[in-house]
Amino acid sequence: MRAVLSIGSNMDDRVALLRSVFDEFAGQIVAASPVYATPPWGVENQDEFLNAVLIVEVEETPLGLLRRGQRLEAAAERKRIQKWGPRTLDVDIVDISSFTSTDPRLVVPHPYARERAFVLVPWLAADPDATLAGTPLDTLIADLDPEEVAAIRPLGPIEEL
Ligand code: ATP
Ligand code: CA
Ligand code: CA
Repeated sequence: MRAVLSIGSNMDDRVALLRSVFDEFAGQIVAASPVYATPPWGVENQDEFLNAVLIVEVEETPLGLLRRGQRLEAAAERKRIQKWGPRTLDVDIVDISSFTSTDPRLVVPHPYARERAFVLVPWLAADPDATLAGTPLDTLIADLDPEEVAAIRPLGPIEEL
């Protein structure tokens, strides 16, 4: 099963926390975006985020993959205090090939992906041919606020940070 993961952090050692996800999926990463610095989305009065997108090829079920991401969040001592608030690590499943779900425990494709430049811009970098529910990513990005898109700033590959 091929899946697209969006990962983010805006607390503690952000690079190390993102790296924990790259390490967890080592050997299963088909493609990865650079790491981007991105403005907070949804709740604006919090620190800048680092975000990246990983395309992984894994053996487990979609819910198994969700649990694997949640284990990494728990290892990062993620605390849920405020919706869309500060977090050490967030691992979201953006999309899974040939799979959709509306189960609230796992909604795929991720319901906000098409609205989020911090997801679409890195995803396009990782996979220039990707589509979301049939629409090419550059088409979706063209529909976003250009200022939001311009604010997504590449820092470099994780190996160089
Ligand atoms: P958002 O989902 O809008 O990005 P968030 O990442 O801050 O917000 P969380 O608190 O991390 O939200 O997750 C809340 C719940 O969302 C999780 O317990 C999980 O079961 C559920 N969930 C539903 N769909 C997904 C998905 N595609 N990827 C990750 N979690 C999901
Ligand atoms: Ca999220
Ligand atoms: Ca999440």
